[in-house]
Amino acid sequence: MTDPLPPKPRASKPPVRKKKALDYFHPEGLSLEELRQSDNTTDPAFLCDCMLGGLAKWLRAAGYDALWQYHADDSDLVRLAESRGLVFATSDAKIMERRVIRQGSLRAVFVPRGLSATQMLEYVAAHFALKRAEARCMACGGRLLVLTKEQVKDKAPPKAYARCDRFFLCARCGKLFWNGTHWTKITRCLDAVFGEGRM
Ligand SMILES: [Zn+2]
Repeated sequence: MTDPLPPKPRASKPPVRKKKALDYFHPEGLSLEELRQSDNTTDPAFLCDCMLGGLAKWLRAAGYDALWQYHADDSDLVRLAESRGLVFATSDAKIMERRVIRQGSLRAVFVPRGLSATQMLEYVAAHFALKRAEARCMACGGRLLVLTKEQVKDKAPPKAYARCDRFFLCARCGKLFWNGTHWTKITRCLDAVFGEGRM
């Protein structure tokens, strides 16, 4: 619990502007393209099926990259997960019977139905013995870059700017985050799931 709290997992409502956040912030002195390339993924990283969007968000909060798309064909998802080496998370028992999963060329986890999103996270974390890691962007799973207050001057909403000292920029989607009451609640849930403080 020595580090500052991770970012508030809610996108900012930035002032009207034409450029995206990444066009404004160059916190490491990198070009826009270099900044995007500085994004990385995790091991394991997940692909959640259409029904598991909540799990994807919580996996990201716990520090694991997770893809999720609502309208997607099961076979396309299976192929994508296999080609990218992602762990496929599904609540569809029939998908678990597919040959690529049975033969082990695609790692997959069956997530029981009827669980809350945090219970799903707890289940998956236990299944893979996941440890809690640095929070990632809950919107897309990208790596979060720490920005100083000075770097978000005139960019962050006034209330957030006044209240927070550290801000976080997603290297993948460019959204700006900060600590807030919403994130405090999420942190408590993560504490309960992992039974530990933040790494
Ligand atoms: Zn993002």
